[in-house]
Amino acid sequence: MENKCVVCGKDKGRNKLFCSQECRVKYLRNKRTCVICGREFLAPPSSGKITCSVECERKNRMINWKTNPIYAMTLERAHEAAKTNPNTAPVETNATAKSWVIVSPQGTRYEINNLALWAREHTDILPSTPDLFCDGIRAIKRTQEGKKKRGAHQYRGWTLEKYYDENLSRKDFPERKKRVSRSRMSDEQRLERKRQRARDQYQKRKNSPGE
Ligand SMILES: [Zn+2]
Ligand SMILES: [Zn+2]
Repeated sequence: MENKCVVCGKDKGRNKLFCSQECRVKYLRNKRTCVICGREFLAPPSSGKITCSVECERKNRMINWKTNPIYAMTLERAHEAAKTNPNTAPVETNATAKSWVIVSPQGTRYEINNLALWAREHTDILPSTPDLFCDGIRAIKRTQEGKKKRGAHQYRGWTLEKYYDENLSRKDFPERKKRVSRSRMSDEQRLERKRQRARDQYQKRKNSPGE
C-alpha cells in the first residue's frame, strides 16, 4: 500500500488510513455500503449513489428492472405475441414444424405441415394419443432415413409416404435471420451490429415526420 491518505491522497505519514482528523471525519461522513456487494465506498452525502462500482450499478438496475411491474408486463406481452406469431405459434406455419405425407390404414392420404398440431386436431381418427402417434410417425421417418436398422415401417397401420426437411406452408415466408448470441460474436461482428443499429435508428428518425 502506498503511503497516501485514502480520502485526499496526501502523504499520511505514520497514520493508518488518513492524513488528518479532518480526513477521518470526512471519510466517516461519506462512506457508504454498496447495496449489492456490501463493499464500502465514498460518496458525498448529497449524491444518490448506492452502489460502489459501474458493475454493481448495472446489477442493481437489473434487479430493479425485474421487480418493476413493467418488466412483468413486457414479458407477458412477449409471450402473448409469440402465441400469435406465425413463426412461433402452434399453427401450420410454425418455423420448427416440418411437412409430411401420411397414409391411414384405410388408404387416405393426409398432407400435413405441422404433425403435432394435426394430431391434436384429429384425435378422433388416431389409434392412440397425439403424442404417441407423432412418436410413431417420427420413428418411421428415422427408419426411412436409415438411422435405425430394424426400425418401424408403420405405426398401427399408418404409413409415411413422404417427409420434408422443411415446412411447405412457409414457402412464401421470408428467410428467418439466424440469431447469434452476443457472447459468441467476434469483435468485428459486434461492431458491425452496432453500426447497423445506428444506421437503422438514423433511418427511423429520418422517416418519422415532425421530429
Ligand atoms: Zn487526507
Ligand atoms: Zn458493490
